Amino acid sequence: MINVTLVGTGGMLPLPDRWLASMWLEYNGKACLIDCGEGTQIAINQHKLKLSHLDILLITHTHADHISGLPGLLLSLGNCGKTDTLKIYSHEGIKHIIRQLLCICPVLPFEIEIHELPLNEISHFMWNDIVIFSMPLDHSINCLGYSFVLNRKPIFAPEKAKSLGIDVKYWKQLHSGESVTIGNRTITSNMVTAESRPPIKVTYISDTRYFTDLADFAANSDLLVCEGMYGDDEYIEKMKEKGHMVFSQSAEIAKKSNSKDLWLTHYSPALTNPDDYAKNIRSIFKNTTISRDGESIILK
Ligand SMILES: [Zn+2]
Ligand SMILES: [Zn+2]
Repeated sequence: MINVTLVGTGGMLPLPDRWLASMWLEYNGKACLIDCGEGTQIAINQHKLKLSHLDILLITHTHADHISGLPGLLLSLGNCGKTDTLKIYSHEGIKHIIRQLLCICPVLPFEIEIHELPLNEISHFMWNDIVIFSMPLDHSINCLGYSFVLNRKPIFAPEKAKSLGIDVKYWKQLHSGESVTIGNRTITSNMVTAESRPPIKVTYISDTRYFTDLADFAANSDLLVCEGMYGDDEYIEKMKEKGHMVFSQSAEIAKKSNSKDLWLTHYSPALTNPDDYAKNIRSIFKNTTISRDGESIILK
């Protein structure tokens, strides 16, 4: 089961009631954080997430609202007892920027490994049984979107196990994918499970202009977290110039990608009441949530 929490939902500047856009994804006691603008470690604490569980950090891009909180986050991590290596993933060319930020926190009780991901293609790597995909976005500077895909275990079919005369003590082992040998018979997992289920998929897209490939990248997401700077379509052209989207464009991506749920994030500081646009946006994509900081879901 995956726990997803929006640590913050703001763009550009942190506000008294809105931290900067950042997402926490936890599985098996290990957490992945996307982005760390100013004060992200405080927001993590406020949402009662355990900073000590942080295992990897993904950075979308190097605008301050997505990375300027890195030194503070690392110092807080050191303070909560982290000693194992922290892996940071982002796009090609980011190493020297991270190294510069590390100048103000030169002594940490853990190692940092920086992994650069390509800017000309979709790539993927494994973390914690989850495949993480990265995709270049279309922002004013280099930027990556991320997608998390976790295969669901097939549902156990007790009637099949019973019909094969398999003792209950072997069921858990078989459901975990292992085979068991009973007498001269070998029972494999697929003999006692129902048909397979689609994987759990979570996609995070911020910051970017609208382009059609975004829907392919987000295809069949259980949860699509997507930027929307403004709720009003009158800002479409202005946001395009700046490398951003408005709510209706995010809703289009959710619809075209056949996603189950859309959470909006990365609101402009000038957008004081994003809820005003809820009805309009839900007419494009019904399962839209005008997210607030701390928005949380458990996906099974
Ligand atoms: Zn931003
Ligand atoms: Zn940006």
